[in-house]
Amino acid sequence: MNINENYKKLNESYLFSTIAKKVAEFSSKNPDKEIIKLGIGDVTLPLAPAVIDAMHKAVDEMGKKETFRGYGPEQGYDFLKSAINDYYKTHGVTLDINEIFISDGAKSDVGNILDLFSKDNTVLIPDPVYPVYVDTNTMAGRKIVYIDANEENGFLPLPDEAVKADIIYICSPNNPTGAAYTKEQLGKWVEYANKNNAIILYDAAYECFIDDDVHPRSIYEIEGAKKCAIEFCSFSKMAGFTGTRCGYTVVPFDLVFDGMSLNKMWIRRQTTKFNGVAYIVQRGAAAVFTEEGQKQIHENLDYYKRNAKIIGDTLDKLNIKYTGGKNSPYIWLKCPNNMNSWDFFDLLLTKVGIVGTPGAGFGKNGDNWFRLTSFNTLENTQKAMDKFYQFFK
Ligand code: PLP
Repeated sequence: MNINENYKKLNESYLFSTIAKKVAEFSSKNPDKEIIKLGIGDVTLPLAPAVIDAMHKAVDEMGKKETFRGYGPEQGYDFLKSAINDYYKTHGVTLDINEIFISDGAKSDVGNILDLFSKDNTVLIPDPVYPVYVDTNTMAGRKIVYIDANEENGFLPLPDEAVKADIIYICSPNNPTGAAYTKEQLGKWVEYANKNNAIILYDAAYECFIDDDVHPRSIYEIEGAKKCAIEFCSFSKMAGFTGTRCGYTVVPFDLVFDGMSLNKMWIRRQTTKFNGVAYIVQRGAAAVFTEEGQKQIHENLDYYKRNAKIIGDTLDKLNIKYTGGKNSPYIWLKCPNNMNSWDFFDLLLTKVGIVGTPGAGFGKNGDNWFRLTSFNTLENTQKAMDKFYQFFK
């Protein structure tokens, strides 16, 4: 037996364990010092009442012979696919419901989709980045080329004709930088992909934070994108499903490469390796799109957006550069005095009592940058930013 040698090439991810260790050490030496965590990448508000009601009803159905459901369609139930289809229509995108696939979250599908592509492809990944794109391709042994996302390009790199790639990752609004592409900028990537016979894997996990018409919620708002892009989305950040698990992936019929339909290949892959998302969870997800559900999830999203604004306003007052904060739950700030992101982490923890995430953990271009998030409570966010202001003013 030979193991997959590519696993030897994976970098150990010490980021969150190192952070936890440093915080624990500091707390044990300074038990009286309050620490506020603005590094949280998970949602904190509970599921909306409309979602809970729908799931309760579905649980009752599962307990009666007449309404019990066993294996469901691997691609998801039509009631949820239709609700998602209607949601796309609200931002001007027309899909066929059979182009929509229900998943147990964006992370799984972003990794699983690679089953459709040969190992010989070259992959283009922005740096800094959500680490899943790098690790899944490293596991498969694909060649990765990086494109710099930095202060000069506002952490929104555009295609370079001199760099050839077959698979391109784009995450907008971005984790960790919070930066979001405009329609015009995204159009350049669509043009590049169509010209170079490449595929864009578009991660729209944070589209629900977009507040204006300048930044697209879906790559399919761009003409030509159905010929070159697969889109991944999730109920995780939109409706607090991080622990409940549900997402969706769009694979348009127009994606035909080498005479093969990627939509058909994905059906084949899913029916072979996946048995669908729980009926109860899909009922809860469908409730997100009801009038009541939309009102309730928007109250939660507005809560996080208000926190993001508090952080952004504080940084504005201090003249500290940052991206995100608008159209994103993430705020990506430049460490004052060009500090290294781990030194800034230590300073913030020990002198101000705030925990964030050092940018270096997301790639080399994050060395002097730092991620704060809006997922803590309003009171804690306000308190943390008051302290931040007093310290850095
Ligand atoms: N994509 C990005 C960019 C993320 O930041 C995350 C989670 O933090 C995910 C995908 C994972 O989403 P899910 O919970 O749907 O698997």
